[in-house]
Amino acid sequence: MSDTSLEVRRMAVIGAGTMGAGIATSCASHGIDVALIDTQAAALESGLRRIRAALDGAVKKGRLSAAAGAAAQARVSVTSDIAAAGAVDLVIEAVFESLDLKQDIFRKLDATCASGTLLATNTSTLDVDAIASATTRREDVVGMHFFSPAHIMRLVEIVRARDTSQTSIARALKLTEQIGKLGVVVGNCFGFVGNRMLYAYGRENQLMLLEGASAERIDGVLEEFGMAMGPNAVGDLAGLDVGYRVRRERKDLPDDVRYFRVADLLVESGRLGQKTGRGMYRYAADARTRAPDAEVATLIRAEAARLNIAPRDIGAKEIIERCIYALINEGAALLEDGIAASPADIDLIWCNGYGFPKSRGGPMAYADTVGLACVYDGIRRLAGEHGARYWQAAPLLADLGRRNSSFAAWQAARAART
Ligand code: NAD
Repeated sequence: MSDTSLEVRRMAVIGAGTMGAGIATSCASHGIDVALIDTQAAALESGLRRIRAALDGAVKKGRLSAAAGAAAQARVSVTSDIAAAGAVDLVIEAVFESLDLKQDIFRKLDATCASGTLLATNTSTLDVDAIASATTRREDVVGMHFFSPAHIMRLVEIVRARDTSQTSIARALKLTEQIGKLGVVVGNCFGFVGNRMLYAYGRENQLMLLEGASAERIDGVLEEFGMAMGPNAVGDLAGLDVGYRVRRERKDLPDDVRYFRVADLLVESGRLGQKTGRGMYRYAADARTRAPDAEVATLIRAEAARLNIAPRDIGAKEIIERCIYALINEGAALLEDGIAASPADIDLIWCNGYGFPKSRGGPMAYADTVGLACVYDGIRRLAGEHGARYWQAAPLLADLGRRNSSFAAWQAARAART
């Protein structure tokens, strides 16, 4: 198959919500005809409104000419009939995050789509193998994990499930190229690469909140380090209820009452983040300007007292080490598991999807700058101070740390062998 034969000309997007509308905007503004499919007429209307607003915004900012904006708009059609996915090159599914629902859709797509249609799911946490198993063409199923807002964020994690064919991966990569995005191929596991690392980073943030550091202190230190936004501001932006629902579904969470306890408490008291004007922070009417909230501090102190956690001062060095070393350690585990193909892939994902400072190269490049012996010592020290439950060095990191080697040298040695 030549490279141009991989090109997508017509596609269907299933689900006209936040992600579906963003993906449709991005694809239509790069010349692809998009059928946007949703069972709810109201969702189709609001999806179309959002697409129009995003295209108008791009025209106002000079990123698209008025004619290109109008042409993109004309390329999007809406329908509630899944038959519109019958004769397209690609389908991207972006319905609610429910395995039953997604399997039902893939079963219908299997019965509807012409053979050779690439079937992609935008799931952020579900098992792509389980979704693919609803079809009789598992080789054509791939994860395409876009980031929100999908018409702006460049990163797409392309998830290779157990039976995904090489051609399907090539086609997914081709689409990301067509629409000016950066596709990084990853393996299939909970959270893939980016969100699995985010859980380790977020866990330390949450524990430090209980131990006495305020949300604004943690965010301030990490923003000073270079993160585009601190983890608490990010949680409020994404909606604290999103992670809450995912944690309720998971069966493999640690048996630890402190684990994401603060986030759970906030959700249970109706503080979902920017969308409710209150989350970790309080928001002004524009919903973007954040301010510390004394009520949150009181809530956290009471919970820490209930759990017998005495508050203490937590310095900037500890905040950085706990959050960033947790990221690095999880990254090393992902390399060992073969979920991430290289340290450079992890760095691309974190710099383009999670606001890690590009000037530091990404978490794995940063680890090499600090020195893996130092990171490994730091992890052992943190295990001494906070227990080994979360602070066991990944075997790869321990090995490289003991030899004072680097992820870059490990990658070079691997490349030389293949
Ligand atoms: P959303 O709630 O905004 O939209 C979901 C849409 O799916 C709704 O419009 C709903 O009417 C539609 N839908 C439900 N059942 C349907 C069916 N049977 N047929 C057609 N349409 C149906 O959700 P979202 O935030 O856009 O998330 C969609 C997917 O993208 C989820 O899998 C989510 O995990 C993933 N995701 C979300 C984000 C994010 O930040 N929101 C980021 C990455 C990935």
